[in-house]
Amino acid sequence: MDIKEKISKLSKLLLHHQYLYYVKNKPEISDREYDCLFDKLLDLEKKYPQLAVLNSPTKRIGSDLDNSFSERKHKIPVLSLDKEYTTEGLKKWIDKIRLNAGGDISFVVEEKIDGASIVLYYKKGLLDIALTRGNGIFGNDVTNNIRTINQVPLIINQPIDVAVRGEIYITKSDFQKYNKNFEGKYSNPRNLAAGSLRNLKSSLVSKIPLNIFAHEGYFQEGKATDFQLDNHVMIISKVMNLGFRINPNLGFFSDKSDWFFPLKEQFPELVTGSIADISDYIKILSKKREKLKYEIDGLVIKVNEIPIRNRLGYTSHHPRWSVAFKFDAPVGHTVLNEIRIQIGRNGRVTPVAILKPVKLGGSIVSRATLHNQEYIDMLELGIGDIVSISKRGDVIPAVEEVVEKSTENPSIFKLTKFCPFCQFKLIKDGSHHFCPNRKCSERMKRSLIYFAARDQMDIEGLGEKTIRFLFEKGFIKSISDLFTFDYGSLLGQEGFKEKKIENIRKNIELSKRKPFSRVLSALGFEGLGSNTVSKLIESGYDSIDKIMDTAARNQTEKFSSIEGFGEVMARLMIQHFSDPKNIEMIETLKKIGLNFREHFKSEPEFPMVFSGQIWVITGSFRHFSPRSQAAGEIEKRGGRVSDSISGKTTHLLCGDSPGGKLEKTKNLNIRIVREDEFMEMLI
Ligand SMILES: [Zn+2]
Repeated sequence: MDIKEKISKLSKLLLHHQYLYYVKNKPEISDREYDCLFDKLLDLEKKYPQLAVLNSPTKRIGSDLDNSFSERKHKIPVLSLDKEYTTEGLKKWIDKIRLNAGGDISFVVEEKIDGASIVLYYKKGLLDIALTRGNGIFGNDVTNNIRTINQVPLIINQPIDVAVRGEIYITKSDFQKYNKNFEGKYSNPRNLAAGSLRNLKSSLVSKIPLNIFAHEGYFQEGKATDFQLDNHVMIISKVMNLGFRINPNLGFFSDKSDWFFPLKEQFPELVTGSIADISDYIKILSKKREKLKYEIDGLVIKVNEIPIRNRLGYTSHHPRWSVAFKFDAPVGHTVLNEIRIQIGRNGRVTPVAILKPVKLGGSIVSRATLHNQEYIDMLELGIGDIVSISKRGDVIPAVEEVVEKSTENPSIFKLTKFCPFCQFKLIKDGSHHFCPNRKCSERMKRSLIYFAARDQMDIEGLGEKTIRFLFEKGFIKSISDLFTFDYGSLLGQEGFKEKKIENIRKNIELSKRKPFSRVLSALGFEGLGSNTVSKLIESGYDSIDKIMDTAARNQTEKFSSIEGFGEVMARLMIQHFSDPKNIEMIETLKKIGLNFREHFKSEPEFPMVFSGQIWVITGSFRHFSPRSQAAGEIEKRGGRVSDSISGKTTHLLCGDSPGGKLEKTKNLNIRIVREDEFMEMLI
């Protein structure tokens, strides 16, 4: 046997034993025999490095060379999942999907492993690239680190191209053990797994017992449309046969019982039932959760049939055929003290619950949205009731239900008939009430506040409080007044020192450089949020003149043919842009120098993940020296960096030996971000 053949045979044999040991848990040779084979191969590779196979089993021990983590484009859609928090919400989702399925449908329920998401690309059966999820379009190349994970096959047992999605995780007990090596800097197993994937040296990663569960396979360019692979169960069974670990805790639900029998052979631990049984299964798994060796943060419910998946398709954020059921919607109980009426810039009435402050998910909650009168009626909510409050993700807290009715005041709250700010009679349109008065002082204030807000024109110094003050004093009545008002005349008024006035002036000037897309959405016309504005611009309406021209000609069909617009939106467009008052305002703003035409040259290179956030940086960093480099990364992605902690600060980037700033964040709702977590956020 020549050397080349010897190396190739030894490699294959070792990969086979790695698979038996790490994936199957059924070793066939002793550790000593294995080590002996391994050393033999290592020896040969040292002598004849040119003969080593690309995905040699010796790659498992990693390298001391630094990884570069270059960015690469994903070849499959790597979207996140839509989320549900209640079994009722999930039931509604299932009903909706069944209604739209147009045929027999079945569902698969998998555990949602709390780890780091990974996509493994195999070319002709060899592990080619492993990418992190990244922003869903580009991921970071972590192939060298992934190769060290024994459970990841370096060579699969068919010479095919396939992309496999999975979750890299570390068990709870290994987390306790290995976090000590990092001086306990990782707050949970997920952070440690994600941090390990981004470790600069793969030789260090090889020492951390990372695991993988694969959960999707893509056997053709972007789609799994192989005729034998027309359902998820077949796909994961195929993925398993290629050598991957599949989580055995799996549920399969169908109203056609003849499905179950062959499945049980392939997945002996499979739980099966009718579609109505899904909610019971979820209850059982929620209870089992504590006993699992690894962390899960929910369950994933997927449509089984690939043709139905293809028919349902994707939104821009998530597939329509899958949903995550999340366990952790923090819930608290408190008393409803009052319901206040909020009027939006377009007149919409939103009742807001004023609550006895309660601690929830790490912050104090004292307000929660109640949406509209219908929602209040549904909850049968009244002042003085004890209610349950939930906070899901980062969204506004919501009142979930009445836990105990008030005995003193058992009635249900009703909205007043009149706008509390202008006394106009409220009108009802759909589920909501509206103040129809365009000159309503509150509506006008709201549209000014909206215009200057962080997500819109981002005029620092013109926050809600300042704008209310300027409006109430009669200094500013319209958007153009924001640009023409002499802020110098405020000198001497309470709270207006020279520095503050100078700051407002500077930021007003800066805001004139904002692109057309920002200006248009900041004007706050109903229906024209940042998403619709970008669709409008993409479809060729890259200047206000083009828009106003179409509106003047009353060409509804031109607007309604824009993706996602439709009839109602088209009519709104005509209404907005042929209204003489609006035209006058736009002409005035044009003269002031705002952008009313899109310039395409400055496409952002980075996803604007920090948009609207205000960061403060403290301490020293391994990857960012000087610290201004970190500030640059934040600003490139749409965030703002400030020198000192204030009520507006949203994040503190905290390096080693932080100063007094960390102390100052106490009692403020500021997220503390350590360097490693920050590195992950930059992916
Ligand atoms: Zn009003």
